[in-house]
Amino acid sequence: MLLDLKQGVTYGPVRSRRLGRSLGINLLGSAAKVCTFDCLYCQYGWTPPDSASGPDGPGLPSPQEVFAAVESALAGLDEPPSYLTFSGNGEPTLHPRFGEIVDGVSALRDRLAPGARTAVLSNSTRVHDPRVREALARLDVRIMKLDAGTEETFRRFNRPPEGVSLAEVLDGLRSLDGLTIQTLVAEGPDGNANAWEIHSWVDAVVSVRPVAVQLYTLARGYPSDRIGPVGARLLEAIRDRLLALDVSASVY
Ligand code: SF4
Repeated sequence: MLLDLKQGVTYGPVRSRRLGRSLGINLLGSAAKVCTFDCLYCQYGWTPPDSASGPDGPGLPSPQEVFAAVESALAGLDEPPSYLTFSGNGEPTLHPRFGEIVDGVSALRDRLAPGARTAVLSNSTRVHDPRVREALARLDVRIMKLDAGTEETFRRFNRPPEGVSLAEVLDGLRSLDGLTIQTLVAEGPDGNANAWEIHSWVDAVVSVRPVAVQLYTLARGYPSDRIGPVGARLLEAIRDRLLALDVSASVY
């Protein structure tokens, strides 16, 4: 079953497999998913066609609305979250004032929840933009999507719009320090789990020099009927291949 879109700017705290107790921050509004990808496995279903090039402003929360929502959410918690995480209904870096929002939320964290860390779950399509990259670098944790090692699989699996290439994504990721790579592995005719693809993906990951790699497979609903979950053994074999190359990796 697919998930409903998040309503409002904050949600949770949710118990995240990767981030513990995480207060989610959704910068994309609640009317529709806003994303530069249309992943075969997206838990929110297919991306609306007019969303692919990103938001033009209206319908998205202003920085002041984001700050008010985060302050209110933190004030209402019995204990502070372990993370304040930019995620939600699409790609957070598409918000045109992402950098300003990162700085304001970081200041709120310092004042109201100094033990919490700031994080982002990003699909990596805007990391080539220096302003976005600088904002990402000001967060404590950057979890960046990389599901493919070839342009062909990138187009089939993540379904970016024309003009967004894997080469550009990799160039951007190589310019960002201290990032974590997250990768969903799926089998099936449109999956990314064949031996050549994994070989290419390992090369791409090594070239990015991440501090960690998070591997997982399908666990929730997804819109495509041409992919399916892989077994734990394959994920563990990929993890071991990375470990042998001195790349920290975990299966989730
Ligand atoms: S990047 Fe995330 S939000 Fe966007 S389509 Fe893929 S899974 Fe969905």
